[in-house]
Amino acid sequence: MSFPPIRPELAGIEPYGAPQLDVPVQLNVNENPYGPSPACVADIAAAVSEAATGLNRYPDREFTALRTALASYLSRDTPHGVRPEQVWAANGSNEVMLQLLQAFGGPGRTALSFAPTYSMYPEYARDSLTRWVAGRRESDFSLDLDVARDLVKSEQPSVVLLPSPNNPTGTALPPEAVSVLCEAAGDGLVVVDEAYGEFRREGVPSAVELLPEHRNLVVSRTMSKAFAAAGLRLGYLAADPAICDAIRVVRLPYHLSAVTQAAALAALRHEKELLGRVDELRAERDALVVWLREQGLEVAESDANFVLFGRYADRHAVWQGLLAHGVLIRETGPEGWLRVSVGTPAEMTAFKTALTDVNGERA
Ligand code: PMP
Repeated sequence: MSFPPIRPELAGIEPYGAPQLDVPVQLNVNENPYGPSPACVADIAAAVSEAATGLNRYPDREFTALRTALASYLSRDTPHGVRPEQVWAANGSNEVMLQLLQAFGGPGRTALSFAPTYSMYPEYARDSLTRWVAGRRESDFSLDLDVARDLVKSEQPSVVLLPSPNNPTGTALPPEAVSVLCEAAGDGLVVVDEAYGEFRREGVPSAVELLPEHRNLVVSRTMSKAFAAAGLRLGYLAADPAICDAIRVVRLPYHLSAVTQAAALAALRHEKELLGRVDELRAERDALVVWLREQGLEVAESDANFVLFGRYADRHAVWQGLLAHGVLIRETGPEGWLRVSVGTPAEMTAFKTALTDVNGERA
């Protein structure tokens, strides 16, 4: 055994993460470009200050107040309402979904998604010793429902991971796809990862509405994207209370710090402001799709706050060229494609100017 005695399948693997570079225009990790207002900052600071007076004590392990606030936020998306015991939260939805795999995956079990899909999913599977199966999406990145249903039936996964909108493609799933796959999964869980849910187009309902119909449905959300609080590290899910109870077995005690709970509660009180730019970002996204198509590029339909475009024979050269112009985007997705997050109008102008220059330099 060599030192340090890392598990053989982890040896030599690079830790996941986009490059964190100090460049003027950062459009690489699908953040909301708008920071909180001074009033919101002051409220969060006051809440954290209040929490600090009790830092000698462990926090509320069941984060009851936060669960209640998140349940009330989620209840907007469904006529059926969401109860606090249907809510679970952790440090980012990445941790929520890893906990799901820890509780419901494991040796002899399978987790399944449809590629291209969020690149952390196979890592949750690897880290929880769960077998990983990736089905395929169509060339427009939609799912062929018959093929998807057959794969779920034949693989019998204990967890199906369905991002909607999908990362890196931006593709949203129609509600019937969620229902069909929930039925095909039997007692296996179907996790609809709505990290970008608030950016979906008008008329596309959240899977939260379907919770009463499918006891195996889990809807995952995050405060990192539309909610403009990526630095907070707060993700959450809505599901049958029995699913939340099972996660409690694998979570580390007091995993949500008193500071996180206080800051998240304060941020939720400023929901209107923090989500206030979503419409603008959606409009900016739609304009970006049109502009990229006008440049003769292929562009995936997007319900998220990012756009996948291409295809380039040498995408790395384009990524590098943009970086040289001070614009950081993401080299991800199928070969030849690049992903750009939707930023402020000024950032979008900088991106368009840089891409025009880079394409010109390469012509
Ligand atoms: N799901 C998807 C589809 C994502 O793209 C991301 C972030 N890139 C996450 C989950 C995790 O986000 P967080 O841990 O910040 O909630």
